[in-house]
Amino acid sequence: MSLRKKLIAGNWKMNKTSADAASLAEEIVAAVGKTTDVDIVVCPPFTSLDAVGKALEGSSIKLGAQNMHPEASGAYTGEISAAMLRSLFAGYVILGHSERRTYFKETDAFINQKTLAALKSELKPILCVGETLAERESGDTLKVVQTQTEQGLEGVSKEQITSVVIAYEPVWAIGTGKVATTEQAQEVHAFIRSLLVKLYGEALAQKVRILYGGSMKPANAPELLAQKDIDGGLIGGAALEARSFVDLIKSAAVAG
Ligand code: PEP
Repeated sequence: MSLRKKLIAGNWKMNKTSADAASLAEEIVAAVGKTTDVDIVVCPPFTSLDAVGKALEGSSIKLGAQNMHPEASGAYTGEISAAMLRSLFAGYVILGHSERRTYFKETDAFINQKTLAALKSELKPILCVGETLAERESGDTLKVVQTQTEQGLEGVSKEQITSVVIAYEPVWAIGTGKVATTEQAQEVHAFIRSLLVKLYGEALAQKVRILYGGSMKPANAPELLAQKDIDGGLIGGAALEARSFVDLIKSAAVAG
């Protein structure tokens, strides 16, 4: 029996109006809203957090955001703080997604500030790490993942680490239909676990969930989720349709 309950998180990215997002949330609630053997999180755009939060009321499904700013308030036009997310009952926040690293030039230091601010506000960070295709092909996968993990977690205490979720998302597998092989994914997940052991000790490292993300679909999920260090999935495309998202949750329940 694993120490870690599987977690399936949907990243809806910049998709769906508030009304469409609420409908999708209602469909998911109708299918798996009472599930307790898998933790489920949906992360709609900021503009849909309120409507989706209402649709999730009374269910076991948690609300998450896709980003936040590290400062509590101030002159940061277009940005959203941790306290604002908490006021809408978000419990999780995706940080350091590769799309934010690439298109918005987010650095490990900035992502680390967000991680610390999220934890201070009792938001659980889903910290994304992962290599590009060029980095994998030049043999730098583990080095890149190590830097992103260590710098992202700088200053996170032993008391806080079990509130952090790490998502290993090889950039070349996101939205491309190219999924990492189970061996490739498990190798990096085990490596991340070994980094956590060095930073926090064996007992705490065994409690931290490490999700896989990158073209996870109902067809490839069972094999990935059966790996020792794969504790769930961060799902993009397949989270936008209730049926595939629910199938992924069912696979996670089977994998236990
Ligand atoms: C993601 O963006 O976090 C992701 C994993 O996307 P997809 O499932 O579409 O590859």
